[in-house]
Amino acid sequence: AVRTRFAPSPTGFIHLGNIRSALYPWAYARANGGTFILRIEDTDLERSTQAAVDVILESMRWLGMDPDEGPYYQMQRMDRYKEVLAQLLAEGHAYPCYMSQAELEALRERQMAAKEKPRYDGTWRPEPGKTLPPVPEGVRPVLRFKNPKDGVVAWDDKVKGRIEIRNEELDDLVIARADGTPTYNFCVVVDDMDMRITHVIRGDDHVNNTPRQINIFRALGHEPPIYAHLPTVLNEHGEKMSKRHGAKAVTQYRDEGFLPDAMINYLARLGWSHGDDEIFTREQFLQWFDLEHLGRSAAQFDEAKLRWVNAQHMKMTEDAKLAPLVAEQLARMGIAADDRLSAICGLFKDRCDTTVALAQWARPYYAEVHPSEADRAQYLTDAVRPALAALAERLANCDWTKEGIAAAIKAVLAEHQLKMPQLAMPVRVLVMGTPQTPSIDAVLALFDREKILERLENA
Ligand code: GLU
Repeated sequence: AVRTRFAPSPTGFIHLGNIRSALYPWAYARANGGTFILRIEDTDLERSTQAAVDVILESMRWLGMDPDEGPYYQMQRMDRYKEVLAQLLAEGHAYPCYMSQAELEALRERQMAAKEKPRYDGTWRPEPGKTLPPVPEGVRPVLRFKNPKDGVVAWDDKVKGRIEIRNEELDDLVIARADGTPTYNFCVVVDDMDMRITHVIRGDDHVNNTPRQINIFRALGHEPPIYAHLPTVLNEHGEKMSKRHGAKAVTQYRDEGFLPDAMINYLARLGWSHGDDEIFTREQFLQWFDLEHLGRSAAQFDEAKLRWVNAQHMKMTEDAKLAPLVAEQLARMGIAADDRLSAICGLFKDRCDTTVALAQWARPYYAEVHPSEADRAQYLTDAVRPALAALAERLANCDWTKEGIAAAIKAVLAEHQLKMPQLAMPVRVLVMGTPQTPSIDAVLALFDREKILERLENA
Protein backbone atom coordinates (compact mmCIF):
# COMPACT_ATOMS: atom_id res chain seq x y z
CA ALA A 1 0.00 0.00 0.00
CA VAL A 2 1.17 3.49 -0.80
CA ARG A 3 2.52 5.48 2.16
CA THR A 4 3.69 9.06 1.63
CA ARG A 5 4.76 11.82 3.93
CA PHE A 6 5.17 15.55 4.30
CA ALA A 7 8.14 16.32 6.52
CA PRO A 8 8.33 20.05 7.15
CA SER A 9 10.82 21.74 9.45
CA PRO A 10 8.79 24.02 11.73
CA THR A 11 10.89 27.12 11.37
CA GLY A 12 8.30 29.80 11.26
CA PHE A 13 6.76 30.31 7.90
CA ILE A 14 5.00 28.25 5.27
CA HIS A 15 4.49 29.62 1.77
CA LEU A 16 2.88 28.18 -1.34
CA GLY A 17 6.10 26.52 -2.46
CA ASN A 18 6.29 24.68 0.88
CA ILE A 19 2.69 23.59 0.90
CA ARG A 20 2.98 22.27 -2.65
CA SER A 21 5.48 19.77 -1.20
CA ALA A 22 2.61 18.54 0.97
CA LEU A 23 0.01 18.62 -1.80
CA TYR A 24 1.57 15.99 -4.04
CA PRO A 25 2.30 13.33 -1.43
CA TRP A 26 -1.18 13.90 0.00
CA ALA A 27 -2.77 13.56 -3.44
CA TYR A 28 -0.68 10.54 -4.30
CA ALA A 29 -1.84 8.76 -1.15
CA ARG A 30 -5.46 9.70 -1.86
CA ALA A 31 -5.26 8.70 -5.53
CA ASN A 32 -3.98 5.27 -4.55
CA GLY A 33 -5.99 4.53 -1.44
CA GLY A 34 -2.80 5.01 0.56
CA THR A 35 -1.79 6.69 3.79
CA PHE A 36 -0.50 10.24 4.14
CA ILE A 37 1.77 10.92 7.09
CA LEU A 38 2.81 14.20 8.66
CA ARG A 39 6.22 14.29 10.26
CA ILE A 40 7.57 17.37 11.97
CA GLU A 41 11.34 17.63 11.58
CA ASP A 42 12.02 19.64 14.70
CA THR A 43 15.55 18.61 15.58
CA ASP A 44 16.90 22.09 14.90
CA LEU A 45 16.07 23.29 18.39
CA GLU A 46 17.23 26.84 17.80
CA ARG A 47 14.88 27.44 14.89
CA SER A 48 11.92 25.14 15.60
CA THR A 49 8.88 26.48 17.46
CA GLN A 50 5.47 25.19 18.47
CA ALA A 51 3.94 28.29 16.89
CA ALA A 52 5.42 27.22 13.56
CA VAL A 53 3.99 23.72 13.99
CA ASP A 54 0.59 25.30 14.62
CA VAL A 55 0.85 27.33 11.42
CA ILE A 56 1.64 24.16 9.42
CA LEU A 57 -1.32 22.34 10.97
CA GLU A 58 -3.60 25.32 10.41
CA SER A 59 -2.56 25.67 6.77
CA MET A 60 -3.12 21.98 6.10
CA ARG A 61 -6.46 21.98 7.90
CA TRP A 62 -7.61 25.00 5.90
CA LEU A 63 -6.74 23.28 2.63
CA GLY A 64 -8.31 20.03 3.80
CA MET A 65 -5.03 18.14 3.46
CA ASP A 66 -5.54 16.03 6.52
CA PRO A 67 -2.84 13.54 7.44
CA ASP A 68 -3.93 9.98 8.18
CA GLU A 69 -1.07 9.52 10.60
CA GLY A 70 0.87 11.95 12.73
CA PRO A 71 2.04 14.46 13.36
CA TYR A 72 5.09 12.53 14.44
CA TYR A 73 7.83 14.62 16.00
CA GLN A 74 11.46 13.75 15.47
CA MET A 75 12.35 15.07 18.91
CA GLN A 76 10.13 12.36 20.38
CA ARG A 77 11.99 9.67 18.49
CA MET A 78 15.48 10.26 19.87
CA ASP A 79 15.60 6.91 21.68
CA ARG A 80 14.81 5.13 18.45
CA TYR A 81 17.56 6.98 16.55
CA LYS A 82 20.08 6.07 19.24
CA GLU A 83 19.01 2.45 19.02
CA VAL A 84 19.63 2.42 15.26
CA LEU A 85 22.95 4.22 15.71
CA ALA A 86 24.01 1.45 18.10
CA GLN A 87 22.89 -1.14 15.56
CA LEU A 88 24.93 0.44 12.74
CA LEU A 89 27.94 0.64 15.02
CA ALA A 90 27.57 -2.98 16.13
CA GLU A 91 27.22 -4.17 12.54
CA GLY A 92 30.27 -2.25 11.36
CA HIS A 93 28.34 0.24 9.22
CA ALA A 94 29.40 3.14 11.41
CA TYR A 95 32.54 4.08 13.30
CA PRO A 96 33.71 6.66 15.79
CA CYS A 97 35.80 9.48 14.39
CA TYR A 98 38.05 11.45 16.74
CA MET A 99 39.19 14.06 14.30
CA SER A 100 38.99 17.41 16.05
CA GLN A 101 37.44 20.52 14.65
CA ALA A 102 40.89 22.04 14.16
CA GLU A 103 42.13 18.97 12.28
CA LEU A 104 39.06 18.98 10.06
CA GLU A 105 39.63 22.64 9.34
CA ALA A 106 43.26 22.01 8.42
CA LEU A 107 42.28 19.12 6.15
CA ARG A 108 39.75 21.32 4.45
CA GLU A 109 42.30 24.04 3.84
CA ARG A 110 44.81 21.59 2.36
CA GLN A 111 42.12 20.26 0.03
CA MET A 112 40.98 23.71 -1.02
CA ALA A 113 44.58 24.71 -1.71
CA ALA A 114 44.95 21.61 -3.91
CA LYS A 115 41.66 22.57 -5.65
CA GLU A 116 40.01 19.40 -4.39
CA LYS A 117 36.49 19.07 -3.13
CA PRO A 118 36.61 19.26 0.69
CA ARG A 119 35.73 15.87 2.09
CA TYR A 120 36.52 13.69 5.06
CA ASP A 121 39.63 11.63 4.29
CA GLY A 122 38.70 8.44 6.16
CA THR A 123 41.44 8.70 8.82
CA TRP A 124 39.31 6.88 11.41
CA ARG A 125 37.57 4.53 9.02
CA PRO A 126 38.36 0.96 9.99
CA GLU A 127 39.51 -1.31 7.17
CA PRO A 128 40.84 -4.85 7.30
CA GLY A 129 44.55 -4.72 7.99
CA LYS A 130 44.58 -0.98 8.72
CA THR A 131 45.90 0.35 12.00
CA LEU A 132 43.91 3.27 13.32
CA PRO A 133 45.60 6.20 15.08
CA PRO A 134 45.69 6.04 18.90
CA VAL A 135 42.45 7.30 20.41
CA PRO A 136 43.09 10.76 21.87
CA GLU A 137 42.20 11.20 25.49
CA GLY A 138 39.18 13.20 26.58
CA VAL A 139 37.79 13.59 23.06
CA ARG A 140 34.22 12.51 22.41
CA PRO A 141 33.96 11.13 18.89
CA VAL A 142 31.35 11.79 16.27
CA LEU A 143 29.87 8.77 14.56
CA ARG A 144 30.38 8.42 10.82
CA PHE A 145 28.53 6.24 8.39
CA LYS A 146 30.77 3.85 6.50
CA ASN A 147 29.73 4.71 2.99
CA PRO A 148 30.49 2.07 0.34
CA LYS A 149 33.76 2.91 -1.41
CA ASP A 150 33.07 1.49 -4.83
CA GLY A 151 30.28 1.24 -7.29
CA VAL A 152 27.45 3.63 -7.91
CA VAL A 153 24.32 4.50 -6.05
CA ALA A 154 21.47 4.98 -8.49
CA TRP A 155 17.75 5.52 -8.51
CA ASP A 156 15.01 6.17 -11.01
CA ASP A 157 13.67 9.49 -9.92
CA LYS A 158 10.02 9.86 -10.87
CA VAL A 159 10.64 13.43 -11.94
CA LYS A 160 14.28 13.65 -12.89
CA GLY A 161 14.77 10.23 -14.40
CA ARG A 162 17.73 8.02 -13.64
CA ILE A 163 20.37 9.50 -11.37
CA GLU A 164 23.68 7.78 -10.71
CA ILE A 165 26.31 8.91 -8.24
CA ARG A 166 29.69 7.24 -7.85
CA ASN A 167 30.25 6.25 -4.25
CA GLU A 168 33.78 7.62 -4.35
CA GLU A 169 32.19 11.06 -4.54
CA LEU A 170 30.49 10.57 -1.19
CA ASP A 171 32.51 10.84 2.00
CA ASP A 172 31.59 9.26 5.31
CA LEU A 173 28.70 11.25 6.66
CA VAL A 174 28.53 12.23 10.33
CA ILE A 175 25.40 10.50 11.62
CA ALA A 176 25.79 11.42 15.29
CA ARG A 177 27.43 14.50 16.77
CA ALA A 178 29.93 14.36 19.61
CA ASP A 179 27.09 14.93 22.08
CA GLY A 180 25.35 11.85 20.72
CA THR A 181 22.52 13.61 18.87
CA PRO A 182 21.70 12.13 15.47
CA THR A 183 22.04 14.25 12.34
CA TYR A 184 19.42 15.18 9.82
CA ASN A 185 20.02 12.73 6.96
CA PHE A 186 20.21 9.83 9.36
CA CYS A 187 16.93 10.68 11.12
CA VAL A 188 15.14 10.98 7.78
CA VAL A 189 16.21 7.46 6.82
CA VAL A 190 15.20 5.93 10.14
CA ASP A 191 11.83 7.66 9.90
CA ASP A 192 11.19 6.76 6.29
CA MET A 193 12.10 3.19 7.14
CA ASP A 194 10.06 2.93 10.36
CA MET A 195 7.09 4.73 8.83
CA ARG A 196 7.27 2.33 5.87
CA ILE A 197 7.24 5.20 3.40
CA THR A 198 6.88 3.88 -0.15
CA HIS A 199 7.19 7.19 -2.05
CA VAL A 200 9.28 10.15 -0.99
CA ILE A 201 7.93 13.17 -2.84
CA ARG A 202 9.87 16.29 -1.85
CA GLY A 203 11.62 19.39 -3.08
CA ASP A 204 14.67 18.94 -5.26
CA ASP A 205 16.78 20.87 -2.76
CA HIS A 206 17.09 17.40 -1.17
CA VAL A 207 18.30 15.59 -4.25
CA ASN A 208 21.93 15.72 -3.06
CA ASN A 209 20.95 13.97 0.17
CA THR A 210 19.30 11.10 -1.61
CA PRO A 211 22.36 8.97 -2.54
CA ARG A 212 23.56 9.15 1.06
CA GLN A 213 20.12 8.27 2.36
CA ILE A 214 19.87 5.32 -0.02
CA ASN A 215 23.22 3.97 1.20
CA ILE A 216 22.10 4.22 4.81
CA PHE A 217 18.85 2.46 3.92
CA ARG A 218 20.76 -0.45 2.42
CA ALA A 219 23.13 -0.64 5.37
CA LEU A 220 20.02 -1.07 7.51
CA GLY A 221 18.93 -3.94 5.31
CA HIS A 222 16.07 -2.10 3.64
CA GLU A 223 15.33 -1.17 0.08
CA PRO A 224 14.87 2.60 -0.23
CA PRO A 225 11.50 4.07 -1.23
CA ILE A 226 10.73 5.50 -4.65
CA TYR A 227 11.85 9.12 -4.94
CA ALA A 228 10.25 12.02 -6.79
CA HIS A 229 12.11 15.33 -6.49
CA LEU A 230 9.95 18.32 -7.32
CA PRO A 231 11.37 21.31 -9.16
CA THR A 232 11.45 24.59 -7.27
CA VAL A 233 8.61 27.07 -7.24
CA LEU A 234 9.81 30.47 -8.43
CA ASN A 235 8.19 33.74 -7.50
CA GLU A 236 6.96 36.28 -10.03
CA HIS A 237 10.47 37.67 -10.45
CA GLY A 238 11.95 34.26 -11.18
CA GLU A 239 13.63 33.91 -7.79
CA LYS A 240 13.23 30.90 -5.52
CA MET A 241 10.07 31.53 -3.53
CA SER A 242 10.88 32.61 0.02
CA LYS A 243 9.67 34.84 2.79
CA ARG A 244 12.70 37.03 2.24
CA HIS A 245 11.60 37.51 -1.35
CA GLY A 246 8.13 38.58 -0.32
CA ALA A 247 6.21 35.28 -0.42
CA LYS A 248 2.97 35.33 1.54
CA ALA A 249 2.09 32.82 4.22
CA VAL A 250 -0.43 30.20 3.07
CA THR A 251 -3.00 31.39 5.60
CA GLN A 252 -2.86 34.89 4.17
CA TYR A 253 -4.60 33.59 1.07
CA ARG A 254 -7.44 32.40 3.28
CA ASP A 255 -7.64 35.87 4.79
CA GLU A 256 -7.68 37.44 1.33
CA GLY A 257 -10.69 35.35 0.35
CA PHE A 258 -9.25 32.47 -1.66
CA LEU A 259 -11.07 29.13 -1.63
CA PRO A 260 -9.28 25.98 -0.47
CA ASP A 261 -10.34 24.08 -3.58
CA ALA A 262 -9.08 26.84 -5.85
CA MET A 263 -5.75 26.87 -4.03
CA ILE A 264 -5.47 23.12 -4.51
CA ASN A 265 -6.35 23.46 -8.18
CA TYR A 266 -3.80 26.21 -8.70
CA LEU A 267 -1.02 24.54 -6.71
CA ALA A 268 -1.70 21.24 -8.44
CA ARG A 269 -1.06 22.85 -11.81
CA LEU A 270 2.13 24.43 -10.50
CA GLY A 271 4.21 21.42 -11.47
CA TRP A 272 1.71 18.82 -12.66
CA SER A 273 -0.71 18.57 -15.57
CA HIS A 274 -3.72 16.59 -16.68
CA GLY A 275 -4.02 17.16 -20.41
CA ASP A 276 -5.26 20.67 -21.05
CA ASP A 277 -7.38 20.80 -17.90
CA GLU A 278 -6.88 24.07 -16.06
CA ILE A 279 -9.91 24.01 -13.78
CA PHE A 280 -10.80 20.94 -11.80
CA THR A 281 -12.34 20.02 -8.48
CA ARG A 282 -10.56 18.60 -5.48
CA GLU A 283 -12.23 15.24 -6.18
CA GLN A 284 -11.04 15.19 -9.79
CA PHE A 285 -7.52 16.08 -8.77
CA LEU A 286 -7.43 13.35 -6.17
CA GLN A 287 -8.59 10.86 -8.76
CA TRP A 288 -6.25 11.98 -11.49
CA PHE A 289 -3.02 12.71 -9.68
CA ASP A 290 -0.05 10.63 -10.80
CA LEU A 291 3.72 10.95 -10.70
CA GLU A 292 4.11 10.52 -14.45
CA HIS A 293 2.79 14.00 -15.23
CA LEU A 294 4.90 15.96 -12.79
CA GLY A 295 6.76 18.71 -14.61
CA ARG A 296 10.53 18.71 -14.89
CA SER A 297 11.19 22.41 -14.95
CA ALA A 298 10.70 25.03 -12.28
CA ALA A 299 7.20 26.42 -12.05
CA GLN A 300 6.56 30.12 -11.71
CA PHE A 301 3.97 31.48 -9.33
CA ASP A 302 1.53 33.92 -10.88
CA GLU A 303 -0.94 35.61 -8.57
CA ALA A 304 -3.13 36.88 -11.42
CA LYS A 305 -3.58 33.30 -12.58
CA LEU A 306 -4.38 32.17 -9.03
CA ARG A 307 -7.01 34.91 -8.87
CA TRP A 308 -8.51 33.72 -12.14
CA VAL A 309 -8.63 30.12 -10.92
CA ASN A 310 -10.30 31.35 -7.74
CA ALA A 311 -12.92 33.24 -9.72
CA GLN A 312 -13.77 30.04 -11.62
CA HIS A 313 -14.15 28.18 -8.34
CA MET A 314 -16.32 30.96 -6.91
CA LYS A 315 -18.72 30.26 -9.78
CA MET A 316 -18.51 26.48 -9.37
CA THR A 317 -19.00 26.39 -5.62
CA GLU A 318 -22.50 25.81 -4.27
CA ASP A 319 -24.06 28.84 -2.60
CA ALA A 320 -24.54 26.99 0.67
CA LYS A 321 -20.83 26.12 0.72
CA LEU A 322 -19.75 29.67 -0.07
CA ALA A 323 -21.98 31.25 2.56
CA PRO A 324 -20.01 30.22 5.67
CA LEU A 325 -16.77 31.40 4.05
CA VAL A 326 -18.33 34.74 3.18
CA ALA A 327 -19.81 34.92 6.69
CA GLU A 328 -16.26 34.68 8.04
CA GLN A 329 -15.21 37.64 5.92
CA LEU A 330 -18.28 39.61 7.02
CA ALA A 331 -17.47 38.80 10.64
CA ARG A 332 -14.11 40.49 10.14
CA MET A 333 -16.02 43.60 9.12
CA GLY A 334 -18.02 43.29 12.34
CA ILE A 335 -21.10 42.04 10.50
CA ALA A 336 -23.17 39.03 11.58
CA ALA A 337 -24.79 37.36 8.57
CA ASP A 338 -28.09 35.48 8.55
CA ASP A 339 -29.76 32.79 6.48
CA ARG A 340 -30.22 35.11 3.49
CA LEU A 341 -26.49 34.91 2.86
CA SER A 342 -26.64 31.75 0.77
CA ALA A 343 -29.06 33.36 -1.71
CA ILE A 344 -26.99 36.54 -1.69
CA CYS A 345 -23.92 34.46 -2.62
CA GLY A 346 -25.88 32.93 -5.49
CA LEU A 347 -26.79 36.32 -6.84
CA PHE A 348 -23.34 37.91 -6.72
CA LYS A 349 -20.74 35.14 -6.88
CA ASP A 350 -20.31 35.25 -10.65
CA ARG A 351 -18.83 38.73 -10.45
CA CYS A 352 -16.42 38.03 -7.59
CA ASP A 353 -12.89 36.67 -7.68
CA THR A 354 -12.64 36.20 -3.89
CA THR A 355 -14.91 35.73 -0.88
CA VAL A 356 -13.72 39.16 0.27
CA ALA A 357 -15.20 40.69 -2.89
CA LEU A 358 -18.38 38.71 -2.33
CA ALA A 359 -18.59 39.95 1.26
CA GLN A 360 -18.38 43.49 -0.11
CA TRP A 361 -21.45 42.77 -2.20
CA ALA A 362 -23.26 41.26 0.77
CA ARG A 363 -22.41 44.19 2.99
CA PRO A 364 -25.35 46.49 2.02
CA TYR A 365 -27.73 43.74 3.14
CA TYR A 366 -26.40 44.00 6.67
CA ALA A 367 -24.94 47.49 7.05
CA GLU A 368 -25.85 51.04 6.09
CA VAL A 369 -24.91 52.21 2.61
CA HIS A 370 -23.40 55.56 1.83
CA PRO A 371 -23.79 56.42 -1.85
CA SER A 372 -21.11 58.80 -3.08
CA GLU A 373 -21.99 62.41 -3.78
CA ALA A 374 -20.96 61.88 -7.39
CA ASP A 375 -23.40 58.98 -7.82
CA ARG A 376 -26.18 60.87 -6.08
CA ALA A 377 -25.64 63.88 -8.33
CA GLN A 378 -25.53 61.78 -11.48
CA TYR A 379 -28.44 59.42 -10.84
CA LEU A 380 -30.78 61.04 -8.32
CA THR A 381 -31.96 63.80 -10.63
CA ASP A 382 -35.09 65.87 -9.98
CA ALA A 383 -36.62 64.25 -13.03
CA VAL A 384 -36.51 60.78 -11.48
CA ARG A 385 -37.78 61.68 -7.99
CA PRO A 386 -41.49 61.36 -8.74
CA ALA A 387 -40.89 57.91 -10.21
CA LEU A 388 -38.92 56.87 -7.11
CA ALA A 389 -41.76 58.04 -4.89
CA ALA A 390 -44.25 56.09 -7.01
CA LEU A 391 -42.02 53.02 -6.83
CA ALA A 392 -41.84 53.28 -3.05
CA GLU A 393 -45.59 53.34 -2.90
CA ARG A 394 -45.99 50.30 -5.14
CA LEU A 395 -43.27 48.38 -3.31
CA ALA A 396 -45.02 49.10 -0.02
CA ASN A 397 -48.00 47.10 -1.26
CA CYS A 398 -46.71 44.57 -3.78
CA ASP A 399 -46.12 40.89 -3.32
CA TRP A 400 -42.56 40.80 -1.83
CA THR A 401 -41.08 38.39 -4.34
CA LYS A 402 -38.81 38.87 -7.34
CA GLU A 403 -41.88 38.68 -9.60
CA GLY A 404 -43.95 41.05 -7.46
CA ILE A 405 -41.10 43.56 -7.39
CA ALA A 406 -40.55 43.24 -11.16
CA ALA A 407 -44.24 43.94 -11.77
CA ALA A 408 -44.11 47.03 -9.54
CA ILE A 409 -41.08 48.37 -11.40
CA LYS A 410 -42.68 47.70 -14.77
CA ALA A 411 -45.81 49.59 -13.79
CA VAL A 412 -43.79 52.64 -12.68
CA LEU A 413 -41.74 52.61 -15.90
CA ALA A 414 -44.93 52.66 -17.96
CA GLU A 415 -46.58 55.38 -15.85
CA HIS A 416 -43.53 57.65 -15.98
CA GLN A 417 -42.40 56.85 -19.52
CA LEU A 418 -38.94 55.74 -18.36
CA LYS A 419 -36.53 53.14 -19.62
CA MET A 420 -35.32 50.51 -17.14
CA PRO A 421 -31.85 51.98 -16.49
CA GLN A 422 -33.32 55.42 -15.77
CA LEU A 423 -35.11 53.95 -12.77
CA ALA A 424 -32.90 51.00 -11.92
CA MET A 425 -29.65 53.00 -11.64
CA PRO A 426 -30.93 55.44 -8.99
CA VAL A 427 -32.55 52.58 -7.07
CA ARG A 428 -29.26 50.68 -7.07
CA VAL A 429 -27.36 53.71 -5.88
CA LEU A 430 -29.79 54.17 -2.99
CA VAL A 431 -30.05 50.51 -2.06
CA MET A 432 -26.59 49.12 -2.83
CA GLY A 433 -24.47 52.26 -2.97
CA THR A 434 -23.43 51.60 -6.57
CA PRO A 435 -25.16 51.81 -9.97
CA GLN A 436 -23.80 48.42 -11.17
CA THR A 437 -25.55 45.36 -9.76
CA PRO A 438 -27.29 42.23 -11.01
CA SER A 439 -30.94 42.46 -11.98
CA ILE A 440 -32.64 44.94 -9.65
CA ASP A 441 -35.72 42.84 -8.82
CA ALA A 442 -33.47 39.98 -7.65
CA VAL A 443 -31.29 42.38 -5.67
CA LEU A 444 -34.29 43.93 -3.90
CA ALA A 445 -36.11 40.67 -3.19
CA LEU A 446 -33.35 39.58 -0.79
CA PHE A 447 -33.87 42.66 1.38
CA ASP A 448 -36.67 43.17 3.88
CA ARG A 449 -39.34 45.38 2.40
CA GLU A 450 -38.93 47.94 5.22
CA LYS A 451 -35.23 48.33 4.54
CA ILE A 452 -35.90 49.14 0.87
CA LEU A 453 -38.61 51.65 1.68
CA GLU A 454 -36.26 53.30 4.16
CA ARG A 455 -33.47 53.58 1.56
CA LEU A 456 -35.78 54.90 -1.13
CA GLU A 457 -36.84 57.58 1.36
CA ASN A 458 -33.22 58.73 1.36
CA ALA A 459 -33.67 60.00 -2.16
N1 GLU B 1 12.44 18.76 6.56
C1 GLU B 1 12.79 18.94 5.20
C2 GLU B 1 12.40 20.32 4.74
O1 GLU B 1 11.65 20.97 5.38
C3 GLU B 1 12.15 17.91 4.28
C4 GLU B 1 12.85 16.61 4.32
C5 GLU B 1 12.33 15.57 3.39
O2 GLU B 1 11.25 15.72 2.81
O3 GLU B 1 12.99 14.54 3.28
O4 GLU B 1 12.86 20.77 3.73
